[in-house]
This record gives sequence, C-alpha cells and structure tokens, in this order.
Amino acid sequence: MENLRTVRGVHDLLPDELYKHQIVIKSGLEISNKYNYSQIEIPIFEFSEVFTKPLGNSSDIVTKENYVFRDRSEDELMLRPEGTSGVVRAFLNAGLVQDVPQRFSYYGPMFRYERPQKGRLRQFKQLGIECLGLSSAMADIEVISLGQEFLDQLNILDKINLKINTLGDFDSRKIYRDALISYFSDYKSKLSEDSIKRLSINPLRILDSKSDEDLKIVENAPSILEFLNFDSKTRFENICKGLDHLNIKYTIDKNLVRGLDYYCHTAFEFTTNELGSQGTVLAGGRYDGLSKMLGGPDVPGVGWAAGVERLALMIESKFINKIEVVLMGQSESFNYLLLPILKKLTQNGIKSEIIYTGNMSKKFKRANKLKASYAIILGEEEVGKKVLKFKDLTSGKEELLKLSEVLLKVTND
Ligand code: ATP
Ligand code: MG
Repeated sequence: MENLRTVRGVHDLLPDELYKHQIVIKSGLEISNKYNYSQIEIPIFEFSEVFTKPLGNSSDIVTKENYVFRDRSEDELMLRPEGTSGVVRAFLNAGLVQDVPQRFSYYGPMFRYERPQKGRLRQFKQLGIECLGLSSAMADIEVISLGQEFLDQLNILDKINLKINTLGDFDSRKIYRDALISYFSDYKSKLSEDSIKRLSINPLRILDSKSDEDLKIVENAPSILEFLNFDSKTRFENICKGLDHLNIKYTIDKNLVRGLDYYCHTAFEFTTNELGSQGTVLAGGRYDGLSKMLGGPDVPGVGWAAGVERLALMIESKFINKIEVVLMGQSESFNYLLLPILKKLTQNGIKSEIIYTGNMSKKFKRANKLKASYAIILGEEEVGKKVLKFKDLTSGKEELLKLSEVLLKVTND
C-alpha cells in the first residue's frame, strides 16, 4: 500500500514524542499559574486582519508564511501564526481594559509556511504568556524571570543563554531607523534581495536577517543603544538592574530585534547551541502599540512565546512506556475471567494490560517489551484454588495470592 503522506512540515506525534511535549506544556502552565498567569484558549483561525493589522506588511509571517483561505461566506481567514495578537484581541473583546493588569498563558498549534527543518515546522506548538496593562519595567523583568524559571524547571538552563536588547520608544527608533537606512544604503549591492526590500519598509528587520552575507554587513551597523533618548535608556538600565538583582545572567545583543512589527523597548531571546540554526527556544518582548493597531485603546503589554518542539528536543525524557501489571491466561478461554481483574486494577490506579493472544512464551516476550513490573497468570490450577499467580518480573519470584493481596502489594510498591 502506498502510504498517505502528511503535508510537508506537519507531523504525527506518536506517544513517546507527545509525552515530551506534554512535559514541556505542563511545566510551562504550572509555573505560569504560580505567577498568577491564567490559561486562556483562543481560536486557531481568525479574520486575517487580526494578524495583518498588527504584524504589518513587512513581517515574514504575514508576507510569506501565512496560511490564508476564504471560507464559504467569502470571509478571509488565517490560521494563526502566533498567539499574541489573538490574546490581545480576546482581551479587548472581553472588555477587560478597565480591569488591568491581566496575566494570561496559552498554548496550542501555530501555522507558518516555512522551509521545514529540524525544529522548524509548518504546524508547531507555542506556549506563551502575556502581561497586559503594565507599562512599568518591572513587568518586563517579571516575564523574563518567569521564562527563565520555566527553562529551569525543564532542567535545561545550563544549555541556555539569555540575550536582551531594547528597541527604544517610537522617537528613539525613528532616529535609529534613519541611521540604519543611511548605513545599509552604502552596501545596497551586497544585501540580499529580502533585505533590500526591508531597507525601505522596515530596516530594523535587516538586523534579524538569516543570510550570512547580510550578517557580515550587520556586524558593523550602528547600535540602537547610541540612539536611545533618556527615558528609553533609563528604562533599559532598570531592566538590566532588575535581572542583576535576580541573578539572571544575560548578554546585551545590540542586533537583537523581534521579527514582528509591533515590538518596542525590551526584546529578549533564550537561545541554545544544541539545535543548530533553530537555536531560539523562547522569545519575547514589549508590544505597547499592539492594542491600538487592533483598534483598541492604548494598552501596554509584554510577553513571550516558547517553541514546544524545540524544548521537547532538549529535554531528557525519563519516560518509557512502562506499565505495572500485565495479565495473561494459560489459554484464551481464561481471558474473560481476566477482564473483571483488569477493571479492579485500573480502578485502583494501576496501569495494566491483558495480553490476549499468543503462547505463554510470546506473552512473556510482550510483557518484557512493555517493561511491566508484575504479571498475573491465570490457569486451571489458579481457578481451582480461587487464587492468582503473581509473578515479580524483576526477581522472577512467583506466589499464589488473592486479588486483594495483589492490590495491596502493587499499590504499596
Ligand atoms: P525564528 O527566528 O526561529 O524563525 P521567530 O522569530 O519567527 O523564530 P517567534 O515568532 O518569536 O519566532 O516565535 C517564538 C518561538 O516559537 C521561537 O523562538 C521558536 O522557538 C518557535 N517557533 C517559531 N517558528 C517556528 C517553527 N516554524 N517551527 C517550530 N518552532 C517555531
Ligand atoms: Mg520565523
């Protein structure tokens, strides 16, 4: 049979891999909840505007990576490429503007038409948090610290670096933008096609280029840090101070910008060297302009999103599909007697499976493969004596026990 393919960059998640994703998600939601970020769920598709308005026409995810379609009412819809726009839209629709700060967490699939590679997919999951309604630098420090705690919980902090930068406020960025245009214009013939386009639309995005040629030119580009006005500079210094205060190590990366247009001030990324060029595992920043771009009032915001697949690639899974008890009959006629026993075991929280088919040697092979701790065996002799044969599969020790004794043994183990 010719297998039915899945779409490029879109994968099935088999149990072992899914389990790792679940560890990442559980840990992210738990730590967020402790910081009083409450989980919300937003739609997987929205009117395109929800993304096109705030993300702007220069962002890759709107120009090249989007999944847009028309539904039967001719509405233009988009599969969500990211979570922040939808969360802020939901916050505005729910009329929470007067009730700030609001702290949210979310996770779920995102969709981007990208060139698939390890850690870069077309359907992938993000887990993120958003803190809405606080313009203070304290909120930036809080979300970075929460991100760091999350990675610490996953036990991968020793493989992670934190990079931060500031994009300044609107005024600082305007002057910086002009300086960048003048600098990059001198190298126009050497820039990639994408970056030549960015030069007129959003020159800051050139700093975020993935082309090696561009990056050589970017190396000597002017730094935003020289163009910050007093307020933006003080703000950035306060953030660094806050991180120092928490003993969070970071490096300032003057070329770090976020790929999306709605960011201002703080930008940060937690990166690793372990995943090749897909090294950013958690990224975020401040997006004070976003609410207005969506048609709402001015609401400051700051947050981050983490790539679940990339984090799952990094965690050591202690998971083996281990079960506690397997049940086997000496012949198939005993299987139905095993069913109520399976029910009792599972009711007592004991993960179990009946091995229905095969001879005894095949059944023990499967028990071994499942890495089961114990076997319950039922045959003529046991039925006659109204007991079960209970075998410890690690020591090989066998004994005849009543079901209640088996339950005690397994639950006390
Ligand atoms: P990159 O520079 O790797 O393309 P990005 O700037 O587009 O990342 P964000 O939009 O900030 O990424 O998304 C936050 C996080 O989501 C990333 O740091 C990454 O871990 C993850 N991510 C983004 N795009 C993908 C993708 N196509 N496949 C898997 N994970 C992704
Ligand atoms: Mg990208």
